[in-house]
Amino acid sequence: MTQPSEHPPIPDITTIGVIGAGQMGSGITQVSAVAGYQVRLVDVDPGQLAAAMTKVAQGIERQHSKGQLTEADKQAALNRISSHDSVAALADCELVVEAATENEQMKKAIFKELLLHLRKDAIIASNTSSISITRLAAATDRPERFIGMHFMNPVPAMKLIEVIRGIATEEDTYLAIRAVTEKLGKAPVTAEDFPAFIVNRILLPMINEAVYTLYEGVGNVESIDVAMKLGANHPMGPLELADFIGLDTCLAVMQVLYEGLADSKYRPCPLMVKYVEAGWLGRKVKRGFYDYRGEHPIPTR
Ligand code: NAD
Repeated sequence: MTQPSEHPPIPDITTIGVIGAGQMGSGITQVSAVAGYQVRLVDVDPGQLAAAMTKVAQGIERQHSKGQLTEADKQAALNRISSHDSVAALADCELVVEAATENEQMKKAIFKELLLHLRKDAIIASNTSSISITRLAAATDRPERFIGMHFMNPVPAMKLIEVIRGIATEEDTYLAIRAVTEKLGKAPVTAEDFPAFIVNRILLPMINEAVYTLYEGVGNVESIDVAMKLGANHPMGPLELADFIGLDTCLAVMQVLYEGLADSKYRPCPLMVKYVEAGWLGRKVKRGFYDYRGEHPIPTR
């Protein structure tokens, strides 16, 4: 039986804090501002923050030019966004979405700093692709107000948000986040808190297998991607998709699956490890399984 909450009621959510101005944080900022939320975007890297603000403005402009937003709506959305170099700016947000680098220690350190400032009744959501929500929640003062909100990349285009309850997440928190998801124009799917949830549990082993296929010389980058596009009707090849996601993120998810499920079938391909060691992380650094520095992507193997 569900016990009544001992905690203060969940406030109306009007202001969302977004931590991490990378690929995901910028997309989350865009969709939240367009949906009518005030958004405060935080990053420790001023270069990332500036690039994200430009990207968000371009994304909103694109929605305007497609006729999805009037000039007034576009301006209003842009005016709702501010950027900051510290989580201290998020003190009065009712919801904070953490979308920083996929590293558990780093995320826990971010929450520790955030909790020095954040209002007591706010919800914290993590956009982690794979880390246990229950474990992240336990590192905060409010596991009942902590939840997984797993957006898909690119956020403005992708309809799904996986909503993941930790062991301690209260029903009120879950319902409030489902309501936010719907206001963002996204479709929520509930996933249980097991390594990598639903989408990545299925998708990342496929990408990892594609890298093994490359590693073992069964095909080259181009043949593997063409084979899966034409043979399995996938809109993108698995290696192209890996570059799109970011090879560091792909590797982090495989490591979480490997360790979390203690099954050797999830062992990350050594070639994926090599690409990450080389700093060839995919599109975001212009090189991964393809080299994006020229006019057209060129396979690197
Ligand atoms: P990214 O590398 O593009 O961006 C991460 C950002 O976090 C960087 O701008 C970095 O400067 C910032 N950051 C690092 N430490 C910080 C700190 N202490 N405070 C504030 N900002 C900090 O990564 P991404 O692809 O946007 O992924 C972010 C999160 O979203 C990860 O947890 C990832 O697993 C998850 N995710 C990624 C995808 C994807 O396809 N890339 C999809 C869904 C979820």
